[in-house]
Amino acid sequence: MLQISDLVAGYGAADVLHGIDLHVGGGEVVCLLGSNGAGKTTLARCVAGLLKPRSGSVTADGDRLDGLAPSQRVRRGIALVPEDRGLFGGLTVADNLELGGFRHGRRHAVDRLPLVMDIFPPLASLLRRSAGTLSGGEQQMTAIGRALMADPRYLVLDEPSLGLSPGMTRQILKAMRALADDGIGIVLIEQNAALALGVSDRAAVIQRGRIAVTGSARTLMSDPMVIHAYLGGR
Ligand code: ATP
Repeated sequence: MLQISDLVAGYGAADVLHGIDLHVGGGEVVCLLGSNGAGKTTLARCVAGLLKPRSGSVTADGDRLDGLAPSQRVRRGIALVPEDRGLFGGLTVADNLELGGFRHGRRHAVDRLPLVMDIFPPLASLLRRSAGTLSGGEQQMTAIGRALMADPRYLVLDEPSLGLSPGMTRQILKAMRALADDGIGIVLIEQNAALALGVSDRAAVIQRGRIAVTGSARTLMSDPMVIHAYLGGR
């Protein structure tokens, strides 16, 4: 289980997260909803080791991750797909993917590639293309594919649907559900609540750095606050 406990973090003098508790088990998708500036990306950065929390802890299957660099966390099975996707636009899709498997050795990268193609079949015909020339959806598949190359146990996705069509978003979220069904634990940070809750087991709403509501995805779909703020008041 990836366990975030009483996490406090911020920038400069200001705290952004005020004691966050959240966990995801293998095989689960946990959706994290929240408006702009609520602290979702800050939480993702703390999990990935890109930002040092002021207090609290992050553990993966019982091991504390505090003090580990991002690359060490990748080796422990934690992968982040950042909001800006973080691709090297001038490199090919194949090179971008290979970089994700690099820490485990070249042999690993070669072995792992077919699995990523299985999850995102459109990538197979794009391997020689520069990542910068791809559509938004193709770029997101490459970014997630790169994270998967490291063979993660836990995957944190920061707003994967940003800028994508509803059709492409559905395709990507469906692939994330399939990955979880294969045993990976996924934290899905999303603004597109209707689609994201549909593939999630549990969900939490973060408001001004605190978890305001948490429960099963089904429960949150009928929560009046969630309906009002994230499901267009339906
Ligand atoms: P969004 O959906 O807009 O990405 P978010 O929920 O991911 O929002 P964060 O990016 O975590 O929110 O930002 C939370 C707060 O922290 C905001 O008030 C933001 O301005 C502030 N913040 C984020 N990054 C930094 C930074 N590098 N330095 C200072 N403040 C920051």
